[in-house]
Amino acid sequence: MSAHAAAQLLKQQIPLLDYLVSQQWQPARRIARGRLIGLCPLHDDRQPSLLVDPVKGLFYCYGCARGGDVIRFVELSHSVPFREALAILRRWSGVGSLLSDVVHFYQFQLQRHPEAAAYLAQRGVRQSALVERMRIGYAPGRCLRAHLMGRGYSLSDLQQAGVVTREGLDAMAHRLIFPLEANLYGRSLGHAYPHRFLPGGKGGLYLFIRHVPERHAVSSVVRRRQTRRFPGLRLRCQR
Ligand SMILES: [Zn+2]
Repeated sequence: MSAHAAAQLLKQQIPLLDYLVSQQWQPARRIARGRLIGLCPLHDDRQPSLLVDPVKGLFYCYGCARGGDVIRFVELSHSVPFREALAILRRWSGVGSLLSDVVHFYQFQLQRHPEAAAYLAQRGVRQSALVERMRIGYAPGRCLRAHLMGRGYSLSDLQQAGVVTREGLDAMAHRLIFPLEANLYGRSLGHAYPHRFLPGGKGGLYLFIRHVPERHAVSSVVRRRQTRRFPGLRLRCQR
């Protein structure tokens, strides 16, 4: 299949709006012909200037004057060429539903483990609405495999996505979980376990980090992205 035909197929499989919403994009309002307006994630937008047409699968930003389809959006948001954007979208469509189930599991576990909520409070994250909106969870280190296999995933699905180890254990065990694009960031509560990303999904954040030449890049990038998306949040930096 040619790259052009592959791109057409991918666009049919991944509606632009679905992808944007998975990146926490929220429309500010609906306008004529079912089109939506919201803040533009491609530039530092203060008032909604991104126009999205879900029927045509196209966007245009009146602020930074850029537009196109879902592939163009990934090219711009990740600063990658066309072929790499296709690969990111393929990965996103493959692991999207599995990761969504994993995130729900971890969110539920956060409510059952007061030590994780206490750690968040100590870091200045106390509002439950914010925790809910950011989909923060906790990996207690058990039950993940059984839960997911009960939902129909095979052990090899879980291993390929990197959510369980070769032995079938929770790869994020004993960490707070911050969902990212096609990946999870696991923040250790103490010093016993290192912070961790899923091994397979080095798309968005890692590409982004290449352009951030500073120490503690991971935590500062996570913090910056989250404060941009959630202006009420001020995560204190732990060095
Ligand atoms: Zn823009």
